[in-house]
Amino acid sequence: MRDFYVFLGPPGAGKGTQAKVVARNKGIPQISSGDLFRENLKDQTELGIRANQFIKVGELVPDDITIDMVKERISRTDCKCGAILDGFPRTPAQAKAFDEILEETDCKINQVPYIAVPEAELIERLSARLTCRAKGHIFHEKYNPPKVAGVCDFDGSELYQREDDQPETVKHRIQVYEQRTRPLVEYYHERGILVKINGSQSIEDVTKDLLDLVDEVN
Ligand SMILES: [Zn+2]
Repeated sequence: MRDFYVFLGPPGAGKGTQAKVVARNKGIPQISSGDLFRENLKDQTELGIRANQFIKVGELVPDDITIDMVKERISRTDCKCGAILDGFPRTPAQAKAFDEILEETDCKINQVPYIAVPEAELIERLSARLTCRAKGHIFHEKYNPPKVAGVCDFDGSELYQREDDQPETVKHRIQVYEQRTRPLVEYYHERGILVKINGSQSIEDVTKDLLDLVDEVN
């Protein structure tokens, strides 16, 4: 039996980091939709070339291309025990297609953890983020400050606040995410597999809750 999980959570909830840690712990790959696109573009696969025709003119990649990429990815041997999906599916239509792909091999999604964090806290987390100009190392004014203000610990380059991380932009990003994701959250809620995780806890405690959830299944 293969174990599939879809991780959901707004920007700033730590979804990508948690997905990586849980995947490593469980010995299954973490599949991020962003990485998958980059890989297909870099390798110039047929799907990558088709996707690029939309990306280069600033259009959304059609669902069938994205779904085929995921389908190919989960057919590889490293997914023989399952995988954690991060950034896919994004819509109920994609979720339905993914369910059908899994059904073909007698699989289904086990759980869909949603890492929930109140909006005010997300704004606080994201809007105090500092990024290094050279390599994109990330710091936080309060939770993970650099040793010297304004300077990257790793390479000494200047730290700045990305436009994406300014409070008004952050608020907008969170609202857009919630609006877009609500139908997907409802889709999984109706199927009884959505599990809310308290994302306001420490990073370690969130990881622990996620691992408990994943272990419960087995
Ligand atoms: Zn740096």
